[in-house]
Amino acid sequence: MSFQITVNPGTLEEQSEMFDVQLMDELLQADIEKAEEEFGPGNIWVYQTEMDDDVCAECKGYNGNIYTSKEVAEKWAWAEKLRAMIKPNVHPNCRCRLETLVTVEVI
Ligand SMILES: [Zn+2]
Repeated sequence: MSFQITVNPGTLEEQSEMFDVQLMDELLQADIEKAEEEFGPGNIWVYQTEMDDDVCAECKGYNGNIYTSKEVAEKWAWAEKLRAMIKPNVHPNCRCRLETLVTVEVI
């Protein structure tokens, strides 16, 4: 009796890709939680552009929108807290900011 075992390289590759995606998701999730913590869990932010002709179409579309800290963390990977505001850094040289609408303090 003899066996012929065929390993489909495509399948192995797909599996390792799936593993990478899962690992990436976990890393991303950790980053989001860290950012949410930094922005203040429960805080609510309003998006504000400079309202001039240099504001790009994408940022213009966000103007006036309301986001939770978690949404900011999920939406913009390069967002950073600067004193009482968040710079979303939607793209290089983005001048937009998110200002606090509601601050939830844990007492
Ligand atoms: Zn912008």
